[in-house]
Amino acid sequence: MSVTPVLEADTLSRQDPELAEILRGELDRQSTTLQLTAAENFASPAVLATLGSALANKYAEGYPGSRYHGGCALADTAERIAVERAEALFGAEHANVQPTTGSSAILAAYAAVLRPGDSVLALGLDDGGHLTHGSPANFSGRWFDFTGYRLDPETGRVDHDEVRRLAREHRPKAIVCGSTAYPRHFDYAFFREVADEVGAYLIVTLTHSAGLVAGGAAPSPVPYADLVCVSTHKTLRGPRGGLILCGAGLARRVDRAVFPFTQGGAEMNSVAAKAVAFGEAATPAFAAYAQQTVANAHTLAGYLAEAGFTIATGGTDTALVVADPTPLGMDGRTARGRLAAAGLVLDCCALAHTGGRALRLGTAAVTTQGMGEPAMARIAALLADVVGGAQDPAAARAEVRELTAGFPPYPD
Ligand SMILES: *Cc1c(COP(=O)(O)O)cnc(C)c1O
Repeated sequence: MSVTPVLEADTLSRQDPELAEILRGELDRQSTTLQLTAAENFASPAVLATLGSALANKYAEGYPGSRYHGGCALADTAERIAVERAEALFGAEHANVQPTTGSSAILAAYAAVLRPGDSVLALGLDDGGHLTHGSPANFSGRWFDFTGYRLDPETGRVDHDEVRRLAREHRPKAIVCGSTAYPRHFDYAFFREVADEVGAYLIVTLTHSAGLVAGGAAPSPVPYADLVCVSTHKTLRGPRGGLILCGAGLARRVDRAVFPFTQGGAEMNSVAAKAVAFGEAATPAFAAYAQQTVANAHTLAGYLAEAGFTIATGGTDTALVVADPTPLGMDGRTARGRLAAAGLVLDCCALAHTGGRALRLGTAAVTTQGMGEPAMARIAALLADVVGGAQDPAAARAEVRELTAGFPPYPD
């Protein structure tokens, strides 16, 4: 019997042609446009097959060996394998693989060590902070007292003097390291030192760089942080989800904070798919992928700078490039719309200290497709031509189709 009978018999096409058409169209969209959205990637066929497997039906509230539901023997084994692989991959004493998203991992991490009203220091929302850094629209802003540290207006780098000053002034219960758009490595040793000085927990949200750390292409926060919240679907290339890493001393608090405090039964198909992705991420091929992803971002940033974009921090250490199109005569939002019409799919992000919006690009997905330096040169030229007005979006769209045809994300 096949692992994914539903997909292979194409039952959906017969039963529900309307939805089947949408799924086909989405695969076509992903294959024929350029996925430069920094948070996205192409999970492997093995990961997708696991998501579509019978484990999706299984209820398994609790943890391996201690479940509320019956029939969990195989679900237990799948979760134990996911936990062991995550611990080995990141060199952590404990892993919880149940969080449904990155944000739910962060919610559980906060719940493990904070009480409502506690003070937290995190990168400010206008400088690349995530919603979970105290946005009034998010649980974090309602339940905790956040202070934002900032980026230096000259260098675009985290202002360490200000971090230390704010930590001394506010005596936060936790300090958070992480960003949706910061293209440089955080100095984890520095943050550990400040956290120790004021008696704060250090929480690292390892989201965009998770696959880079797993593949040895970025420094690991695990030796420094009390809690590391990981996104499994960005550069790590697994199913959409979260993961929490910690030392043995916080293991029980983290597990209780995930279930039963913030979640019910975990998605066991996703837990198994995380195990598959962690297995992939432990291979030499994945290490090469992580290196290439960073090399591609570096190359792309260089070509974009040559073409006239202002590159935040002057470059990148990671998979992220933040490019301000203002020198080419267009604001970020308008540029994003024009680029979308050309099949170049990406996001905008806040530009520190200006109030403007820049383009946020990531190389995780295009690198999975096998693109290298020549493709980065073409992508940068397309971006510059479309934003600068040298090429209309329809003409660029044809070029994007031609480029992507050479790099199918799911070759037959
Ligand atoms: C992606 C990300 C998250 C989590 O996002 P989800 O959509 O909930 O998975 C949290 N913080 C940062 C800094 C991120 O980049």
